[in-house]
Amino acid sequence: MTPLPASAGFVIIGAGIHGLSTAWHLAMELKAKGKGSGADIVVLDKSAPGAGASGIACGLLRGFYMTEAMHPLIRHSLDVWTYDRVTFGFQQVGYVSCGEKNQLPDYERIHKSQNANDYPSDLYTGKEAAVFLRKIWPDLNVNGIDVVLHEKMSGYSGTRQAMRGLAEKCEEHGVRIYSGVEVTGYDMTGDVVKKVRTNRGDIACDAVVLGLGAWTPRHWAMLGLSDKIDCRYADGAVAKAKDMWTYWRLVEGEVLVDEPYLTSEKKDPPIFKAELMNTPVVDPTTGKKEGDFTYVYWKYAAERTRAPGIQGGSVPVKIGPSAMVDPYGHASDLYQSGDAFRDYFCAAMAMFMTRFKDIRKNYIERRNGGIGAFTPDNLPVIDWIKDNVYLIADSNHGYKLTGVGKLVAHHLATGDPVGELAPFGFSRYAQGRTFGKTNSNSPWV
Ligand SMILES: Cc1cc2nc3c(=O)[nH]c(=O)nc-3n(C[C@H](O)[C@H](O)[C@H](O)COP(=O)(O)OP(=O)(O)OC[C@H]3O[C@@H](n4cnc5c(N)ncnc54)[C@H](O)[C@@H]3O)c2cc1C
Repeated sequence: MTPLPASAGFVIIGAGIHGLSTAWHLAMELKAKGKGSGADIVVLDKSAPGAGASGIACGLLRGFYMTEAMHPLIRHSLDVWTYDRVTFGFQQVGYVSCGEKNQLPDYERIHKSQNANDYPSDLYTGKEAAVFLRKIWPDLNVNGIDVVLHEKMSGYSGTRQAMRGLAEKCEEHGVRIYSGVEVTGYDMTGDVVKKVRTNRGDIACDAVVLGLGAWTPRHWAMLGLSDKIDCRYADGAVAKAKDMWTYWRLVEGEVLVDEPYLTSEKKDPPIFKAELMNTPVVDPTTGKKEGDFTYVYWKYAAERTRAPGIQGGSVPVKIGPSAMVDPYGHASDLYQSGDAFRDYFCAAMAMFMTRFKDIRKNYIERRNGGIGAFTPDNLPVIDWIKDNVYLIADSNHGYKLTGVGKLVAHHLATGDPVGELAPFGFSRYAQGRTFGKTNSNSPWV
């Protein structure tokens, strides 16, 4: 067993998307600025890289956000994924989002903001939308779809490959990653962490970065921070004593396909997403209503299903302020996607594409999905939470936020404020900048 160092400049806790992206970029920034190198950084993970949500996610990068402050972050993430698309397994297939009339103004705003942020998208409405969709998927049922946004730069990464790739980048730049090292506490003087306590001894440090995904609330408590918060909104409204963290179950699943899932031009199709807020999901074969509204997404996923197959999901399901985080992911007996998801997802697939009319029989009956900790407004908190503790709590937008590590690294190496991160500061809740409501059944917009 490699002994732990007695001290390190930066201790990064959690080897998921954020811990690894931050470590890799920080190593490059320190070197470029003549302020150090990857040798100043250690990453600790109680299991191994990709043991959290980053290793089981659908891995989608898309920019469809009603919250415009997210768009610059997504643009940086695109830079990260395309920096070395082979190593990260990034498939730039694009993303197609379909909606009803009630979301038209949102689509128009998103389209405008994406293009202003160098994230090109096209918007189609009415007949044009139907023509556009049918060109890609000739068997698509376009009933109820009034508006379509096509993001040309979006795509997905095979999650295992992406995590291996990020770990490789860290190691190439001299970052040491320690698996099997669990942080058990913080040795503090006032608001400064002097040492990180682990199951294998203490590490003295200058700064700590937390990329802890679903385990964030546990460390929030270890650092003595409150589990309730007053949230002030721009219109003066105040929501008192909200839960700081709320767990949700992210539901996803996989199906095999009898024929390769391709576009009319025999290409890997864009990620397909439809949110029809006023249209129930009704199984076209059984006539059974599986849900009051439609929200589904899917992508080609042979890298995961090991045969022609598809992976997709729907809106997450709220658990509450506490959850059993360990064992995590597919090892958990409590939080799997379940039969209701399977029936909803397969019915929605069949509802939209005739090629999937018998898809239910092809559903892969295995564990799928995972849980995540969401913030009070379901958007990331990226900020200092103690004098030398920096938190990246992404509220489960992670694959879309790989670029956050790049921005955080710049801040850590230079001390300069980073404009793109400012809206996501923790002080927003106290200062009346809590993000407000969005027009969707998903907490992810
Ligand atoms: C089923 C599912 C599907 C998803 N699909 C998508 C998607 O398609 N697109 C998208 O953008 N996002 C998606 N997400 C969200 C995304 O996966 C997460 O937002 C992201 O992976 C979180 O990354 P992270 O680095 O913050 O945390 P994680 O990946 O969870 O990593 C945290 C790490 O911390 C380690 N750790 C925990 N406690 C300790 C400790 N005490 N000491 C040391 N190490 C510790 C864990 O072992 C873990 O490896 C999905 C999430 C789930 C669950």
